Parts: sequence; structure tokens; C-alpha cells
Amino acid sequence: MKQVWVPGPVIVGAGPSGLATAACLKEHGVPSLILERETCIASLWKLKTYDRLKLHLPKQFCELPLMPFPSDFPTYPTRQQFINYLNAYAQRFSIEPVFGTEVRLAEYDSNIGFWRVRTFDSEFICQWLVVATGENAEAFVPDIKGVSEFRGRVLHSSEYRSGADFSGEKVLVVGSGNSGMEICLDLCNNCAAASMVVRDTLHVLPREILERSTFSLSLWLLKFLPIQLVDSLLLLFSRLILGDTGKFGLKRPKIGPLQLKNTTGRTPVLDIGTFSKIKSGQIKVVPGILRLTARGAEFSDGRQAEFDSVILATGYRSNVPSWLKEGEFFNHENGYPKKPFPHSWRGQNGLYATGFNKRGLLGASMDARKIAEDIACQWNSGAKHLPLQLLFTS
Ligand SMILES: Cc1cc2nc3c(=O)[nH]c(=O)nc-3n(C[C@H](O)[C@H](O)[C@H](O)COP(=O)(O)OP(=O)(O)OC[C@H]3O[C@@H](n4cnc5c(N)ncnc54)[C@H](O)[C@@H]3O)c2cc1C
Repeated sequence: MKQVWVPGPVIVGAGPSGLATAACLKEHGVPSLILERETCIASLWKLKTYDRLKLHLPKQFCELPLMPFPSDFPTYPTRQQFINYLNAYAQRFSIEPVFGTEVRLAEYDSNIGFWRVRTFDSEFICQWLVVATGENAEAFVPDIKGVSEFRGRVLHSSEYRSGADFSGEKVLVVGSGNSGMEICLDLCNNCAAASMVVRDTLHVLPREILERSTFSLSLWLLKFLPIQLVDSLLLLFSRLILGDTGKFGLKRPKIGPLQLKNTTGRTPVLDIGTFSKIKSGQIKVVPGILRLTARGAEFSDGRQAEFDSVILATGYRSNVPSWLKEGEFFNHENGYPKKPFPHSWRGQNGLYATGFNKRGLLGASMDARKIAEDIACQWNSGAKHLPLQLLFTS
């Protein structure tokens, strides 16, 4: 196995979080090495998202540190515009990840005081390890009874590209988060009959209120008002703009949208037109699935319906527990740091995490800045520098 001594931090993952961290480190004069399992940067955005995707939040909340979006970008940049921006970002900061390099094991070696990071044929040894593998590293596929009997297509939302591939079909979309809702709209716009499984309560909010993005309006209101009051205002405006979502099968949780996000991490759905299609009956809302059958599904209320395809918009999982052998900082069950925001970025022995605070790109940028400052402080104080990429073979 080849051993590579890395003078600066090793960053695992070349998504927006990894890129932002590398750029901030570079700004402080600290070199870093990114290891990426895929063959490109931003693999989630390039390989696992659907064509019609736009950023869910306005652009000012999604740009990475040190490089604003081009001024001609719309308020909600498209997936392709965001990808172009990330390509330009990597180029601007001369970030060159090592591609096709999946990290399979990383552990702290207390004998030498360094991290050992293993891929299939190499071991990278470094003082700082930055985990940037994301909250969406692996598609989450729930166990659904009867799935092997179902004769149609079953795919995860990460494999879904366009409603045009389902034109004329009856499609069951499992999951009612932002992706599930948007996929239903896309199907509907492409002449497919979409039904959406809604098992739980959820908050649907208009994407804009009083011609301002709901997200930025919430942040602004929170400067002056307690969170309970902001939640009440959001719910009042939602009622005025959307109507009673509960009447159409989308019952709201007892706790308000911002408090729910703070306590559980559950993000409210920002409606981009799906709800009006639900109201008009073009998209059906169905309860939890009891089982799939050869031609369709049975639901928890006893209803049955036929479907040609099933799309699982059932979310993602962190994969950290599968490769990071460490017991203090990360939770073994869910692969998130044990301490929530704002303490989720720094662990012990030079371990860091970017993009695990359930605050999207804005949260990742905040982590990246803090991590770079922290490491730069140690770097500049002359911490155990290793010679530049000494290469051994054993
Ligand atoms: C459909 C969709 C839409 C979204 N829209 C928004 C939005 O509008 N605004 C927003 O703020 N957030 C949005 N998000 C959240 C999104 O997760 C972040 O925007 C962003 O992609 C997170 O960046 P990241 O670098 O942390 O993770 P990722 O983008 O997932 O990147 C992680 C990288 O790590 C690599 N990796 C994983 N495991 C290993 C390993 N063991 N070894 C080596 N490499 C590994 C992966 O291949 C990947 O390239 C959206 C998410 C989805 C799924």
C-alpha cells in the first residue's frame, strides 16, 4: 500500500463543502488535498439531480465564500448555472481533487498524532481531517413490502431526470419533501398522472411572501421578533396565500415551521406551484403505503390504485459511520456530528466537519470559513509540518 504524507489537511469530498473549505484554506495560505470518490467535482449536482432543479433558496444564501455568483444570475439559479459556478470556483482557486478515490477508512493514530486515511490502494497521513462527504452521501431507500412483486419501474429521486421519461404513465411518488413535491409538478407538466404519498404532517410555505423570499423574510423578522411569533406570521401568510393545506391532505405539525427546523432539522417545503395542482386535483395525495402489488399499491386507508412507476423521494443519509472510525464527534447511528449547530464543525485531534449543520449551502460556507481560520492558526504557529508529499511504498 502506497503511503502519502500530506502537509496540510485532507478533505474528503469535492462537493460545495469541500470546495469551499479548500478555497478558504488557500486564502489563508494553507495547502490541502481533496479526495473524491466520483470522477468530477459536485457529483450530487452533476450526476444525481433532475433537469428542472433550481436552487430552493435565493442566490445570496447559496454562494460559496470569496466568490459571488455572476451578477446576471437569476434569483433562483438553475442547476446548470450552479454547476457552472462551481466549475469556475474550482478553477479560480486551482482546486484539483484526486478523483476516483473513495475513502474507505479513516482513523486517528494516537502513537504518531496523525490521521490515517485509507483508499483502496493508498494511505494518506495528515494532521487535519475535514469530513465533507455531505448529508446526502447515500440514497435512502426504505423497505417497502411487496416491492419485488411490482412489475413497473422503481427508482430513487437521485436517478430521476425528467418527467418526459414518464409521459402518459401513472406514477406514485413516495415522499413529500421539496424533491417529492417538485418531481410531482414536473411529472404533471409532462402529462404523467402523479400521486404523492404523504405519511406525516408537513409545513408547506409559499416560496415568496409580499414579493420577498420567505427564507429572507424569516431571517429578517427573527432579528426583531421571537421565533414563535415569526412562525405565527408565516402560518398566517401561508393560510392567506395557499389556503388550508390540511383540507387537501397536507396536515401541518403542531409546532411552527422554524421551531420544527430548529428542533428536528425538518425543512419546510417551499411551494413552487405543486400545491395549486394538488388543489385542482391534478396531483393526488395518498396516505402511507401498506404494500406494493404487481400492478400498483395498497394504502393504509384500504384504498388501492394502479401505477406504472414508483419514484422514491425518500431522502438521503450521511455515510460517515461506514468509513470514519471515531467515537467522540460523530454519531454512529445517523452520521452527523453529535453536537448541533453552531458546534458541529470541530471535533478532537484535528477532525472537522463541513456541511453537516442542516443549513444547506449557507451553513457549509459558515463551516468552511471557521475551519480554515482554525487550521490556519495552527499552521501559522508552526504545528507539526510534514515535508511536502513525501512518498513511500511499503
Ligand atoms: C435535490 C437537492 C436540492 C438541493 N437544493 C439546495 C438549495 O437550493 N440550497 C441549499 O442550500 N442546499 C440545497 N441542497 C442541499 C445540498 O445537500 C447542498 O446544497 C450541497 O450539495 C451540500 O454540499 P456538500 O459538499 O456538503 O455535499 P455533497 O454535494 O453531497 O458532496 C459530497 C461529496 O463527497 C463525496 N463523497 C462521499 N463519500 C465519500 C467517500 N467516502 N470518499 C470520497 N468522497 C466521498 C461525494 O461523491 C460528493 O461529491 C439540495 C440537495 C438536494 C439533494
